[in-house]
Amino acid sequence: MKNVVTARGFDFHCHIDLYADPAAMVSKCDAERIITLAVTTTPRAWPQNRAWAEKSRFVHVAAGLHPELVAQCYGEGQLLLDTIRRSPFVGEIGLDGSPPHRASLPRQREIFGQALDVSEEVGGRVLSIHSRGAASEVIDMLSRCTTRQRVLPILHWFSGSATDARRAIALGCFFSINPNMLENDRGRALVQLIPEDRLLIETDGPLATRGERPLAPPDSATIIADLAAFLKTSTGDLTAIVSRSADRVLRFAGAV
Ligand code: MN
Repeated sequence: MKNVVTARGFDFHCHIDLYADPAAMVSKCDAERIITLAVTTTPRAWPQNRAWAEKSRFVHVAAGLHPELVAQCYGEGQLLLDTIRRSPFVGEIGLDGSPPHRASLPRQREIFGQALDVSEEVGGRVLSIHSRGAASEVIDMLSRCTTRQRVLPILHWFSGSATDARRAIALGCFFSINPNMLENDRGRALVQLIPEDRLLIETDGPLATRGERPLAPPDSATIIADLAAFLKTSTGDLTAIVSRSADRVLRFAGAV
């Protein structure tokens, strides 16, 4: 059992295993009491990530196969499905329709569709989902393959249209807000569309940066403060709002 009550911060999409010292980053999440969803880019990384987080009260590990890696890791599709049966948290999964990855979309659809089917079958699954350049199709697939009783989708660093965002909201999706979304008009408009009871935050560290520096879970304090200022609320109120969302998500996964 992990703990949400005493959390001071949140990072619902972080690549803990891509930092130079993942074990030290887990310790930092515990020391600073940051609820962190450690996504993986290949299911082969799941056991080692679980070992790093085994004693952690704040770090939850997700089983994933990143859509950008499907072309080279297609053979790990079955391992992903087997791992989803053992892991209430799933991610990073999804579709990437941007030009460098468009060619693998047929295989991406196959892997993502199977991951959704197994998640729906098992139930109690929380999914951190990538949807760059493919938001409409990701939402179509969520709508077709999952129900909100059994699958809780979190759209990570969402960059689809307002129409897509509204459809996702109607389906019950949560959104993990990356600080980079506040850096452009489109991202800011999307953030304003999201109901407060669907708001989560993320860093996508160390892949995402602020300036030159890779983001990390402890940046969550600054991210909450910046997002609160943008939403014209207080840091304390926004922390309470995200804390309630975090609690719902972790309960859905049976993690608290
Ligand atoms: Mn990511």
